[in-house]
Amino acid sequence: MTERGTISVNTENIFPIIKKFLYSDTDIFLRELVANATDATQKIKRLASLGEYKQELGDLKIEVVLDKEKKQIRILDRGIGMTAEEIKKYINQIAFSGATEFLEKYKTAEDAQTIIGKFGLGFYSAFMVADKVEILTKSYQEEAEAAHWVCNGTTEFEITKADKHERGTEVILHIQQESEEFLDKWKIRSILRKYCRFMPIPIVFDGETINETTPIWTKKPSELTDEDYLKFYKELYPAEENPLFWIHLNVDYPFNLTGVLYFPKIKNDITRHKDKIQLYCRQVFITDEVKDIVPEFLMLLHGVIDSPDIPLNVSRSYLQSDSNVKKINSYITRKVAEKLEELFKNDRSSFEAKWESLGLFVKYGMITEDKFYEKAIKFALVENLDKQKFTLDEYKEKVAPNQTDKNHKVVFLYTTDPPKQDAYIQSAKKRSYDVLVLDDVLIDAHWVNRIEQKLDGVSLKRVDADIIDKLIEKEQKPLSVLSDSETERVKEIFKKAIGDDKATVEVVPMPTDEMPVVITQPEFMRRMQDMYTGSGMLGAGKLPSFHNISVNANHAVVHRILRTIDEEKQTQLAKQAYDLALLAQNMLKGSDLTKFIERSISLL
Ligand code: ADP
Repeated sequence: MTERGTISVNTENIFPIIKKFLYSDTDIFLRELVANATDATQKIKRLASLGEYKQELGDLKIEVVLDKEKKQIRILDRGIGMTAEEIKKYINQIAFSGATEFLEKYKTAEDAQTIIGKFGLGFYSAFMVADKVEILTKSYQEEAEAAHWVCNGTTEFEITKADKHERGTEVILHIQQESEEFLDKWKIRSILRKYCRFMPIPIVFDGETINETTPIWTKKPSELTDEDYLKFYKELYPAEENPLFWIHLNVDYPFNLTGVLYFPKIKNDITRHKDKIQLYCRQVFITDEVKDIVPEFLMLLHGVIDSPDIPLNVSRSYLQSDSNVKKINSYITRKVAEKLEELFKNDRSSFEAKWESLGLFVKYGMITEDKFYEKAIKFALVENLDKQKFTLDEYKEKVAPNQTDKNHKVVFLYTTDPPKQDAYIQSAKKRSYDVLVLDDVLIDAHWVNRIEQKLDGVSLKRVDADIIDKLIEKEQKPLSVLSDSETERVKEIFKKAIGDDKATVEVVPMPTDEMPVVITQPEFMRRMQDMYTGSGMLGAGKLPSFHNISVNANHAVVHRILRTIDEEKQTQLAKQAYDLALLAQNMLKGSDLTKFIERSISLL
């Protein structure tokens, strides 16, 4: 007896719409069908373990068969199967009513993605690639009759009795002409490897088992050795060096999440490390775009997260506001902070050795996440020119005796480029000041701002931000040997030699072993510039650069220039001293540099 019916949808156009909008990624039809087969298989296992199914379970593997001749893909399982009634209920009614509702909503939808995600249309994704789908199935229930369902992609279907003796389901896809690319063995294999690689029931394709049914994140940390974690890492990222360390995630309340996150060794090319976290839902691969689920500063981590509590197929804005996603996000942040703190406390020297790679995460996290900052402030490290590493508290204690200014601020001096800023570093060293190296262009400018806001009584100044005695101003000021009128005169000579009305020239008493002229770039202005250029808001150089010119009132060269009677010679010498200062700041370029060289030769 054949039963014919019409699926209760009032429009004939459902499949084109599903095809177009349901999934942008056609490949996932296979994931949906294999996931259904997996669910059905796990259900029969559960029934058997509860004693509700007493027959032999048999070999429970799922088979995917490609038949090029017949243009078919078949998915076979030995799960619970379905009776004809169940097909009508689960396939025809439920899935189709979902589809109908979807269509209704879709008419007025502003955000089609959001709506699509709310309907379970898994099975029907088969019609993305097939123009006819058959289901051959026999329920586990005693005396159940096997059923055969056929649907050719319209709302019409047909159910007949079938001649099938084994429990389970076979789904037959008749691949449509436009989708013949899916009749390729390598294509199917690669889709299975991508989406089904860690599914919990063995999947066999072309004589090969595709998956690993118990990947490490499904096991307890106590059952695993370091080798297991490293082996898994190598499987996922064969080209990568070993990771620095890893974190095994495992929560079941208030949300369910398992996973393993690895800290990779970061090389200079950061983009290479992006999108390396894979998101799974009960061992079914979903995506490697985990933005919003993983805090942004941890996007460079590698590994796997598995959670049934992350809403899938929903729009980004919906995902961000989801409360589970928010909780997951802060859970991951906390776990990472705890792990780092533990490493720092238990093995400081290995933590220090890893700092080069870790520093980037930690600093970025401190900038972007307040909660992380509070934890990280205890283990974030700074390094000085002697390559010694300190926590911020330790460093403050170290430099406070010598580097506290008259306003009781402890001044941390830093360099962003030791060779370039060497002249300034030497000035600091003459006063036995310590200098930190903060040379990560991507992050340190922001990080400096951040820690300065938060650290009490500390200010950070780049070594070339001012003359050293102004960077750390002490009660006792150096005295000038020049009279007021001489000071005025020196200023005029230099202004004339520099020939730039906007330049600010100051005559300042400095020690005699400093340079005759020092060019500095005020900390505040430079930071503004770094932030703008760093964040790409303005192209480099769009902000006017600001420099101060300080002439050393106590320097013998300055005195000699003052006493030079030949005015032309005087200007030439002042220009020479000024160019030397530019040179020390790496600012002497182009024709100015050529002129300087010519002048030097003539002076020689
Ligand atoms: P979902 O899997 O989200 O429920 P589907 O449209 O993929 O939605 O499937 C609808 C229902 O059909 C399933 O919930 C299940 O009851 C039934 N089903 C689908 N595939 C199988 C299968 N291979 N074996 C047994 N039942 C199945």
